[in-house]
Amino acid sequence: MQYLSTRGRAPVLGFEDAMLAGLARDGGLYLPESWPQISADEIVGFVGMPYAQVAIRVMRDFVGADIGEAEFAGIVEEAYGTFDVAEVAPLVQIAPQSWICELFHGPTLAFKDIAMQLLARLMDRALTRRGKRATVVGATSGDTGGAAVEAFAGTEAIDIFILHPNGRVSDVQRRQMTGAAESNVHNIAVEGTFDDCQALVKALFNDHALRDSLALAGVNSINWARIMAQTVYYFTSAAALGAPAREVGFAVPTGNFGDIFAGYAASRMGLPISRLVIATNENDILARTLASGRYQPKSVVATTSPSMDIQVSSNFERLLFEVSGRSGERVRSMMRELGESGAIELNPTEIQSIRAAFAAHRIDQDEAAETIRQLCQEQDYIADPHTAVGVTAAAREELDPGSAMVALGTAHPAKFPDAVKRACGKTPIIPDRLEKKLHAEERYDVLGNDFAILAEYLTERSSALAEPQL
Ligand SMILES: *Cc1c(COP(=O)(O)O)cnc(C)c1O
Repeated sequence: MQYLSTRGRAPVLGFEDAMLAGLARDGGLYLPESWPQISADEIVGFVGMPYAQVAIRVMRDFVGADIGEAEFAGIVEEAYGTFDVAEVAPLVQIAPQSWICELFHGPTLAFKDIAMQLLARLMDRALTRRGKRATVVGATSGDTGGAAVEAFAGTEAIDIFILHPNGRVSDVQRRQMTGAAESNVHNIAVEGTFDDCQALVKALFNDHALRDSLALAGVNSINWARIMAQTVYYFTSAAALGAPAREVGFAVPTGNFGDIFAGYAASRMGLPISRLVIATNENDILARTLASGRYQPKSVVATTSPSMDIQVSSNFERLLFEVSGRSGERVRSMMRELGESGAIELNPTEIQSIRAAFAAHRIDQDEAAETIRQLCQEQDYIADPHTAVGVTAAAREELDPGSAMVALGTAHPAKFPDAVKRACGKTPIIPDRLEKKLHAEERYDVLGNDFAILAEYLTERSSALAEPQL
């Protein structure tokens, strides 16, 4: 499989090169040149199959000839063997037509583990095979960092640098990153917001000299391999609930638009998804875009669901590429417009195609808290604030009789004990695997929101530099 940039001016790359690149050289994001198809019969056959087996089938064509079949199967099985439950992404029913798909049974109790456990192994293997090293740089609003550190700590061929907004991630989230003892892990607290962190990472990638000398690789949800890994649980959930015969929709707590774009990808691969519901918190850029046809970032508001406190949803560019008829030229002009006027005006065809596949609801903190309280009292189920945003948005949709709606459960409630306690009076039980991390000594440096300082920091510490810098 070959991969194209959404901006149409970067080289077309194979799977491993697109994965190692992260962001394309023209500032765009990679997408497969065509959508591989999974047949209705195959979807029916996924029922009762081990998660790793479905994953191997769903991802096989995206990887193509880059990795041998047996090697790929081994990597996938190892990645999902790190999960606490055999199903990997179990479904829990919360109402006659509603389920939560729990994506938080991995090593850091975040749904990010599902992609990151796979990505780290795929990258390390590709680099080792090539005799190369790389520097992974990522920005996190909370959970990506912990999942990335956990997955990449101790890898052979990679140094990892994770930027988080100083003081804007939860204690648990910070400790999951900064408690790593491995010397290839570097944590940076940036004095700014998540969007600032993300902008710094983008600027690093757009500095081609630095990008080459440090062999920079991105692991944010702009990395195609992550989206690919996230398409799998849409298939396992929908199949388990009776698709394709039964209509199944998904409500997705959304920040960077990666997770829900994976749902869109699954639908393009032949999974009949009746509706993809974008669930946002007060940072509602996507809900506003669907309503008005105008994509216009505002400033970020801190909420009880910090992993969704994002105003620049990077992966939305992938959807823009699709709905503009895969026109790199149109995407470039939209990005120019965004840079110059601070907004993008979608044309009627574009906004109509988006509305045909997606709905969006803005759920504020109080509404999410009310959902946590209700689930706790009526179902004895403890949801974290992100999952609660998804469940609340799902409940706003009118469902056809017989259809099913799945809200994605993106974080374990024990990661957000204060918000959960405030909403329902209960303190979630901390699983052992998390408890151990919370007492490790923290290692991180605080840096200003400044590109030059960051570039110097990386250059001093990365071991990917082929030659000593003069
Ligand atoms: C990352 C994350 C999200 C948002 O996912 P996107 O792919 O960025 O839209 C939602 N909830 C939690 C807990 C997360 O960690």
